[in-house]
Amino acid sequence: MRKDYHSVSFWHDSIADSVKLRPALTTDIQYEVVIIGAGYTGMWTAYYLKQINPDLDICILEAEIAGFGASGRNGGWCSSHLSGLDNWLANEKTRAGALHLKDLMFDTVKQIGLVTEKEGIDCHYERSGCLEVAVLPVHLKRLQNEWAHLNSLGLAGEHYNWLNEKEVRNLFNIDKALAGIHLQHCAAVHPARLARGLADCLESLGVKIYEHSPVEKIEGQLVTTAAGNAKGETVLITTEGYTANLTGHKHA
Ligand SMILES: Cc1cc2nc3c(=O)[nH]c(=O)nc-3n(C[C@H](O)[C@H](O)[C@H](O)COP(=O)(O)OP(=O)(O)OC[C@H]3O[C@@H](n4cnc5c(N)ncnc54)[C@H](O)[C@@H]3O)c2cc1C
Repeated sequence: MRKDYHSVSFWHDSIADSVKLRPALTTDIQYEVVIIGAGYTGMWTAYYLKQINPDLDICILEAEIAGFGASGRNGGWCSSHLSGLDNWLANEKTRAGALHLKDLMFDTVKQIGLVTEKEGIDCHYERSGCLEVAVLPVHLKRLQNEWAHLNSLGLAGEHYNWLNEKEVRNLFNIDKALAGIHLQHCAAVHPARLARGLADCLESLGVKIYEHSPVEKIEGQLVTTAAGNAKGETVLITTEGYTANLTGHKHA
């Protein structure tokens, strides 16, 4: 088991107070909700469960430290983009649902800013949007097609803005910029600060986080680690790319 997580990534290395470690599970425990994995999925789930019911007894079992996985060391884009959504938008049958989902994705970017501010999580959240720029005629053609598509969906103007050459250059002095599309629903974050800050916030809300507690097996409500078992009325597996390492699980 590691003792120092600075070397995991630039993001972890740039947390000044070093990554403080939480105790591991050493005994048998029982909670209403047991969450396996302290990444964004597990921790945001715990956060919103606590908003719905502050009395809910929740614990999280984490193999390494909160934010060890992709959540603590990603590209830092808090983006409203969802891969695959364009296919659903293009299909008449799924378009209405996809537009609703897109609205929810837009709102999520805002929500992360509001919650981190409310909870005092200093994750360097900066919602300045996302800019796509054409620097070659072929890019421009593609951007024009995209703009026509956004118009047909009713998204142009409200969420996305077309910028001409001068407007792009006023924003950024990009050499050879021909035009751009600016989407306001995108922020930059420091991913490790967000993950570690979220873990601290959860503890202040009464969620128990055990680090260095790799789960070995899950049988219904019983979760097994080498040093103790956790029983949960509800057990949530939020181990993302690591899930196949759990006994009885495989890659989807
Ligand atoms: C290189 C990279 C760049 C990315 N850039 C972006 C980006 O810019 N913007 C964006 O929105 N998304 C980005 N993503 C995707 C995003 O980071 C992930 O979708 C997201 O962090 C997944 O969160 P998660 O909580 O589901 O998984 P994870 O963060 O992987 O969390 C899973 C947790 O489970 C723990 N775990 C695993 N096995 C066990 C076990 N047996 N017992 C207990 N705990 C266990 C792990 O240690 C880990 O902490 C990027 C991903 C990668 C890999």
